[in-house]
Amino acid sequence: MENGYDAIVIGAGFAGAVAAREMAEKEGRRVLILERRSHVGGNAYDCLDEAGVLIHRYGPHIFHTNEEAVYRYLSRFTDWNAYEHRVAAKVHGRFMPVPFNLTSLKMAFGEEEGSRLAEKLIGVYGAEKKVTILELRRNADPDLAKVADYVYQNVFSYYTQKQWGTTPEEIDPATTARVPVFLSEDDRYFQDTWQGIPKDGYTRLFERMLDHPGITVRLNTDGRDYLFFEGSSGIRFEGEPYRGAVIFTGALDEWFDCRFGRLPYRTLDFAFETLPVTWYQPRGTVNYTVDEAFTRITEFKYFSGQDIPDRTTIVKEYSREYTGEAGEIPYYAVINPENNALYARYRALTEGYENFFCLGRLAEYKYYNMDAIVGQALALCGRLR
Ligand code: FAD
Ligand code: UDP
Repeated sequence: MENGYDAIVIGAGFAGAVAAREMAEKEGRRVLILERRSHVGGNAYDCLDEAGVLIHRYGPHIFHTNEEAVYRYLSRFTDWNAYEHRVAAKVHGRFMPVPFNLTSLKMAFGEEEGSRLAEKLIGVYGAEKKVTILELRRNADPDLAKVADYVYQNVFSYYTQKQWGTTPEEIDPATTARVPVFLSEDDRYFQDTWQGIPKDGYTRLFERMLDHPGITVRLNTDGRDYLFFEGSSGIRFEGEPYRGAVIFTGALDEWFDCRFGRLPYRTLDFAFETLPVTWYQPRGTVNYTVDEAFTRITEFKYFSGQDIPDRTTIVKEYSREYTGEAGEIPYYAVINPENNALYARYRALTEGYENFFCLGRLAEYKYYNMDAIVGQALALCGRLR
């Protein structure tokens, strides 16, 4: 045992919390988590607001996965609200299902023309198939081009401009592929086998996961104040050489004082409002795809299932470039070849440090959903055994 701890984890989001639990439980390691926020849960943190509504402090989080092992793992720490996320785009005053589907098609083009276009799309791509907007735009058929233009203009163009500051062509194709045109009447945002919201909230899930005699959590503690790289292969913790595993889930450019320049991220400003109505909007989330400065509005009672009459809490999300100023949080990696190359330079700096592991959405500079992070954390800890 080193300095009283066999492993140190920086960050108490999904990556850090799952890794800590695995190491403590499977190997009896004594694990210290350093978390710079005043709470656990990372961006999945939720809490009650003054109106008593369970809000997601860092934006809407809906759990969904096709990985049974991940679902089973998290189910040890929570029961689930059987919530299925449904999203509408507000297009010129009408609420149109997103992902754009056969219902949206008929809303956009009318019943008759919509049915004809649906038949044609299904003839080309197949029923119940998903087609990305970029793929659809490559089809030269005039009918399909008409659909592609409509979807591009009314669903993707302005929303993507707001979210990323650029066009759908300029961002990683995997990003718009998250929300493909869906040749179906299924209007759920996700088709994953397992989906839901933790019954008592995400924070409670984290508290249960971290409630283990082998785990110590230090909040309001920046890992960079306690851990340092030394020479080309050593790590120091609280002034002493440290040879236990260090799992780092923060931003890698920050760890190296941004010596090659900042890794680009998008940050968000959240505007929460409590309104004197029971319900504000017809779906959990409404995307503003053709107007407004915010990208989307989420109404939290859809997630929590709380029965609270005459008041509801919503959040508007405004996206902008992350500058690294105090208080800003890097939410989305801006994935492209140039930024990936910059990330690779930072990653190369960690190579000699054999007990240092990068894990999570920030540390790996990836667009991971929660389930992917849980899967990655379980896999990494499996390799460390
Ligand atoms: P984080 O949650 O970012 O946790 C990292 C933690 O490390 C933070 O608590 C941070 O404070 C801490 N930290 C960083 N640096 C240091 C340091 N130097 N010292 C100490 N602590 C440090 N996923 C879904 O599956 N479904 C969704 O609906 C969904 N919605 C999302 C909506 C938004 C607006 C965003 C931004 C993300 C969403 N995600 C969603 C993704 C989800 O948030 C991530 O997959 C998940 O939170 C990543 O976990 P993580 O542990 O890697 O990172
Ligand atoms: N997108 C869009 N319009 C929409 C929904 C999504 O243009 O109505 C694009 C946009 O570029 C967005 C990406 O698809 O960033 C991924 O959307 P998703 O809802 O998965 O984003 P997240 O919930 O991760 O912010």
